[in-house]
Amino acid sequence: MTNTDTHPDELVCRNGSGGASAEPVQVVEPRDVPLGGLRAMPVRRTLPQRARSLIGAWCFCDHYGPRDLAAGGMDVAPHPHTGLQTVSWLFAGEIEHRDSIGSHAMVRPGELNLMTAGRGIAHTEVSQVPRAGDGAQRDVLHGVQLWVALPDAVRDGPAAFENVRPPSGVDGPLAATVFIGDWLGLRSPATVHSPLVGAELRIAPGKTVDLPVDPAFEYGVLVDAGEVAVDGTPVATAHLAYQAPGRRNLRLSVADGPTDARVVVLGGEPLGEQIVMWWNFVGRAHEEIVEYRRQWMAECGRPDVPATTDVPARFGAVAGYPGAPLPAPTLPHTRLKPRT
Ligand code: MN
Repeated sequence: MTNTDTHPDELVCRNGSGGASAEPVQVVEPRDVPLGGLRAMPVRRTLPQRARSLIGAWCFCDHYGPRDLAAGGMDVAPHPHTGLQTVSWLFAGEIEHRDSIGSHAMVRPGELNLMTAGRGIAHTEVSQVPRAGDGAQRDVLHGVQLWVALPDAVRDGPAAFENVRPPSGVDGPLAATVFIGDWLGLRSPATVHSPLVGAELRIAPGKTVDLPVDPAFEYGVLVDAGEVAVDGTPVATAHLAYQAPGRRNLRLSVADGPTDARVVVLGGEPLGEQIVMWWNFVGRAHEEIVEYRRQWMAECGRPDVPATTDVPARFGAVAGYPGAPLPAPTLPHTRLKPRT
């Protein structure tokens, strides 16, 4: 997934002040963002926004589909990342991943693709067309792509990629898959670098579940399907409810209906670091973002940017993708001051 804004803002992101445990939940509205050019697949972005830019180390949340692939799917040309992990989680469909450290993998429902950018990586993501005969549903794409900001101590580390099958469990009206972290007795094998949880929950209609949560964590609940209330506050489809640290339970109620509700829960200990996000880069200062952009454009062979021969490639090339890399947008003229 890439940020395809043609003039993306530079955002300075930090966790909120924490807030009192008695605070009502905050509901963040999604904004629609086209992913790609013609036949662009729209995505609903709830992080980052002015109202909320981080939940733990989670710094980006795109929710898409169910999308009929006949209308155009996901086809994201080689693009770079720094200082983050991408977390690809599907409810339906299939995406092919290739990256500049030689990984080639599919992501399918029930599997997690976790790419650690570290100091730099480039990748492509292409949704797959239906193939007759194997019974798999590939004509619809439906899922989320999430980014995790890497803590300062590891953000310049090596790039990595893993495809894991996280554990699932059922308890009465609740079916849970914990794809990041350790929650509800389920531990994901995925590699993360800060206290973090990510889970898909399905809850039977007409039921309320009270889930034990870590009071040191803040939580977000993204509603994918169903009429859901978080601690009594109704949360519309594609919206993200935020619960501040200090609570020991997360109460999810589902109205009566024909099918299960589905939510994605993102939680974590407030990162405690201020990050700077622009386009597909996470850094700590504007000057770093400028340098990441310069290096990507040089590695892309843009004629207007001289290649440096004294520095090893930060991003590298993606093999097996038929198109040209995505050039970085123009940097904004204004530099944002940190928000307080
Ligand atoms: Mn990406």
